[in-house]
Amino acid sequence: MEKIDILSLDRDELTSEICAMGEKSFRAKQIYDWLHVKKVTEFSQMSNLSAQFREELSRKFCIKSLNIKKRLVSRIDNTVKYLYGLFDGEAVESVLMEYKHGNSLCISTQVGCKMGCRFCASTIAGWVRNLEPSEMLLQIYESERDSGRTVNSIVLMGIGEPLDNFDNVVKFLRILNSEGSGMSLRHLSLSTCGVVDGIYRLAELKLGVTLSISLHAATDEKRSAIMPINNRYNLAELMMACDDYFSATGRRISFEYSLIEGVNDTDESADELIRLLGGKNCHVNLIPINEIKEREFKKSRYVERFRKKLLGAGINATVRRTLGADINAACGQLRRDDRTDNS
Ligand code: SAH
Repeated sequence: MEKIDILSLDRDELTSEICAMGEKSFRAKQIYDWLHVKKVTEFSQMSNLSAQFREELSRKFCIKSLNIKKRLVSRIDNTVKYLYGLFDGEAVESVLMEYKHGNSLCISTQVGCKMGCRFCASTIAGWVRNLEPSEMLLQIYESERDSGRTVNSIVLMGIGEPLDNFDNVVKFLRILNSEGSGMSLRHLSLSTCGVVDGIYRLAELKLGVTLSISLHAATDEKRSAIMPINNRYNLAELMMACDDYFSATGRRISFEYSLIEGVNDTDESADELIRLLGGKNCHVNLIPINEIKEREFKKSRYVERFRKKLLGAGINATVRRTLGADINAACGQLRRDDRTDNS
């Protein structure tokens, strides 16, 4: 019988499993604490449980782990990029960044991606599978263990579309936020290319997560040309879902806009963005596109000019600081390079 992935169980699920073994529920609390607060990697380390019970636990459950396949450390600003190997030989990326307000970790939610955004390296070889809640948590736990730093905030902006792995992502959020391990979800941003039904479902849960929308263009024509999701949910539908998210949660929405030369960086594009977002309580994050070798897209030279136009129209816009420029591999590029090396 396959062992149960214990790190993917939320508190209630763990309690029912432990009670079904004939143990009291406080034992589940102790185990949960070992797993998610003390973050042990073996049942044998759970020293307040009897040797016999630890033995029973290890027959029924497994504690998954990730192995570090690659670690790139920036000499400029201490950014660390990890390529984590998973139990089935697949790999995903996480990036640990240092800011004035603390350490932020960017984690992956799927192996590969189905969304097909034209400029993104994560989607080129398609989707392989969803990550389990444990595999998202372990990206945090392993990065903390390896770097000796504490992760203060998390962004779901690595490989994958979080709202295309909705149930596992929500369970991950609940475990992360649960009593004890206790990270406030206000310090977590979920980034989506615009999976509208997922945005409504997330709003209903009122988890307090910050929502980031990967917008990248402000007309249906331009957006559909670079982001196929726009053919399924157009901009009007996306904006309605964003308004709903804001009214349900009170959380200001952040829009990501990667500037690509000649595609979405002209004055006309800025005016379109102003028309789309004018009057909304939001924030625009401008990102010079990361050039990837499989695609022709080039970095825009007009990032500042674009930002000034937005500011002039009263839209809050910042340019994302480039971290780890010397280890700069675009989203999903590390995993792709690794696959190419091995083939
Ligand atoms: N699927 C989710 C989260 C993963 S992508 C989403 O689309 O939001 C994280 C962010 O990186 C998104 O804003 C995505 O559009 C952006 N991105 C992907 N490839 C990029 C590239 N080559 N340069 C700049 N940003 C990129």
